[in-house]
Amino acid sequence: MNHRIESIKPSASMVLMARAKQMQKTDPTVIGLAGGEPDFATPDRISMAAIRSLSEGYTHYVVGPGLPELRAAIAKKLREENGLEYDENCILVTPGGKNAIYLAVQAILNEGDEVLVLDPAWVSYEPIVQAAGGVTVKVKLDYQQDYRITAEALEAACTDKTRLIIINYPNNPTGRILHKDEADILEAFMLRHPDVYMLSDEVYEKLVYDGVKSISMGSYPSIRDRVATMNGFSKSVAMTGWRMGYLAAPKVIFDAAYKLYQHSLSCMSGFLQKGAVEAFHCEYETEQMRQTYAYRRDLFTGALNRIPGVRCLKPEGAFYAWVFFDIGGMDSTQMCEYLLENAGVVGMPGSAYGEETACCMRFSFANATEDLERARAEDHRRAGKAAEIKTRAQPRLTDLIERNTIHKEVHTMEKKPMFYGGKVGPWIPVLLMLAGMLASTIIGGGGLNRLTGISFFAISVGFLLCKDKKQFGKITLKGLQNPMLGTILMAYLMAGMLAQLLRQSGLITALIWGISKLGMNAGWIPLIGFIACVLISTSCGTSTGSVAAVAPVLLPLAFSLNIDMGLMCGAIISGAIFGDNLAPISDTTISSSLTQEADVSQVVSTRFPYAAISGAVAAVLFAVFGLVRTRASPAGLDLDGSSARALVLLVLPIMMVFMMRKGWDLMGTLIVCNLSGIVLNLVLGTIGPDKMFANDGPIIAGMTGMMVLVLYVILLFQLLEILNSSGAFDEMTESLVKHCKSPRSGELICYLVAAIGSVVTGGSGIAIVFFGSLVRRITKAFHIDRCRGANILDGVACGATGLMPHGNPTLVSLGVALAIDGMDPNFSFLDIIPYTFHCWGLLIIFLVSILTGIGRRFESAETAAETN
Ligand code: PMP
Repeated sequence: MNHRIESIKPSASMVLMARAKQMQKTDPTVIGLAGGEPDFATPDRISMAAIRSLSEGYTHYVVGPGLPELRAAIAKKLREENGLEYDENCILVTPGGKNAIYLAVQAILNEGDEVLVLDPAWVSYEPIVQAAGGVTVKVKLDYQQDYRITAEALEAACTDKTRLIIINYPNNPTGRILHKDEADILEAFMLRHPDVYMLSDEVYEKLVYDGVKSISMGSYPSIRDRVATMNGFSKSVAMTGWRMGYLAAPKVIFDAAYKLYQHSLSCMSGFLQKGAVEAFHCEYETEQMRQTYAYRRDLFTGALNRIPGVRCLKPEGAFYAWVFFDIGGMDSTQMCEYLLENAGVVGMPGSAYGEETACCMRFSFANATEDLERARAEDHRRAGKAAEIKTRAQPRLTDLIERNTIHKEVHTMEKKPMFYGGKVGPWIPVLLMLAGMLASTIIGGGGLNRLTGISFFAISVGFLLCKDKKQFGKITLKGLQNPMLGTILMAYLMAGMLAQLLRQSGLITALIWGISKLGMNAGWIPLIGFIACVLISTSCGTSTGSVAAVAPVLLPLAFSLNIDMGLMCGAIISGAIFGDNLAPISDTTISSSLTQEADVSQVVSTRFPYAAISGAVAAVLFAVFGLVRTRASPAGLDLDGSSARALVLLVLPIMMVFMMRKGWDLMGTLIVCNLSGIVLNLVLGTIGPDKMFANDGPIIAGMTGMMVLVLYVILLFQLLEILNSSGAFDEMTESLVKHCKSPRSGELICYLVAAIGSVVTGGSGIAIVFFGSLVRRITKAFHIDRCRGANILDGVACGATGLMPHGNPTLVSLGVALAIDGMDPNFSFLDIIPYTFHCWGLLIIFLVSILTGIGRRFESAETAAETN
């Protein structure tokens, strides 16, 4: 046999893909992430064109290097999109991009010629060079320098036998694109070596993220006559099985390649080429796929980066995650075997691409939907298997194994909806809602009814702007599936009922009677509300829970005493946020610490000064505003003590605090308290059985009193889902990250991400979990202290939650306030927001700290190294 061919190794990715398929026969839970195979169907218009042309008789030889119309379309595309001026007659349509590379290399090389390949590199370059009698010389790029091209590395590998350099951007496996500075280095190299040709593999050209574009080297006029460009349809329009690619080359290369083509292939199938022509009209489909890959990339790489000891470059292009494992004693082949055997995850070892210095692997996030669907059925078995592995494997690895569920999530993702108006499109409905809200406040005092109408109008605009109307329905449904929504809606209904149970029992009158007996000034009540919420929230760790415990008692009381309801609600919300922000058991404290890889107690202690300053100022303001604003005082009211037995009902909020401290969830707590409230009222005779179940009784009136709020929040969550599903929010985050140039701008971006994330996701907890890894990425890059990252994240997310109309604490207090008989129906969160002093305080104090640098701390080299 031919010695050259005999010594070629089989394709590692093909071998692993086949192994995954083999394993799946006996273990359907095996997940194959080795191959670069898009899981989308080829767009219909392409398939239909091919089918049509079959019946039109395109079933014979199509003499020539490709259908003229296809080559014209290719030349136009290269000119307009890539700045490449190839003659239409120098374009060769090939069976797959791989064959284009093969033909070009065969055309250029003579026996013994050397070919530079930037390492790590796609697995097939070396065998293709070998088959042509050439010798591959690897230009080692350093992972510690993010695989940047350097003139030194190129020169070190170049000899007088060098005839060709092969480059591939966006890169398989690293996901890097070709940036201007590196392209300049390549140009300079080519100018220094006028006998060297270049082959640029741009098969992933369409798959780039975050608005970047990879440079095509053939667009440099100085070297254009020596650069051949290869591209294809496999990746950009999901046509892997069609085997359609092309080579655009200088005439000398084209002529030689075409001769070999004629004698080995004759020509390409006409009907396939007819289909491919349609690919140039599939911008929409390509964009949809690209956006889905971008989403999968964020989810997948973000989740991997959260695993200790695992680091993943964020790919700028292609659909591969290039993952580094900082796990002693294993090389990439062993790691690959380990994951294969123990986790049923098939990836590619870094060594297959030439990366020997670090233990890394390549996982594709483009394929495997089928695998994952089959994997779902086996979930239980897998869980048992993972648990078994846990006992004997290194803990950080088992983490990864369990994370293969992430991939499942990634692959079951819906395609992203597209909107008219480009990037601004998805923001228009939300902006409209905000504008409507402002206008309605200026004209008529806000009011929930009006805002609910405006939200509906904004959603309708979203519907009109959405390009795929059927998909819009899914967005609105997805908005309803937000787990926050269910919790908050139930909390309103339950809190409404509790408020009525307390109010209709006569408790408020009894409290006023008590205050008048003590001779106390009602102006202190906002401050008392603030302090009560701080204490409850600090001990229970839930801001919504503490508002639900305090609001039903204090808001009706404040209303009866003529206290400004905005001020009273502001005090309750502020207190709740203060406590939540400081409580070590609060979900936001824990998630902000975990996502920042910081110790919870250290985070809480470093957070204290910020919270304390803002809280102290807020307390003073509540006292001052309370005393100045409160006109009526209970001292002048003429009350008897007949309702005093209702004071027994104070046991309900106390019971609530106790249960939450014991770890009961809010819903369970509210149900138990309401049930107890019903029983207590019936036993005490404060509410009779007839009244209890009447339409205006506490149960029905309590819940129906919340209905407009329920409607409003449902619409709001649907509206915000437009930003989530369309990826508009993610895109904005990414473009913000690009502006991180210094610790200050980095922190500012963390601040913005926490605030906007909180607004968009509808809750501080979710925002922290979602964007924690991004914040950590930024703080890591600038060696900013991790506790500081956690504090900015939590402080700002919690502060923003207290200020936004759909923040849980705001909504619960607003709902309870509106459920009070005689309350102004126009009362809205806009009346509350000026008084949420502590929330403003948190936002201001962190902004000042970031801008001035006061309080900024950096990590020592050792602590930073622990997690890098
Ligand atoms: N170049 C690179 C870098 C690739 O990853 C691939 C496919 N894995 C190809 C070329 C070949 O693509 P095709 O033959 O399917 O067009």
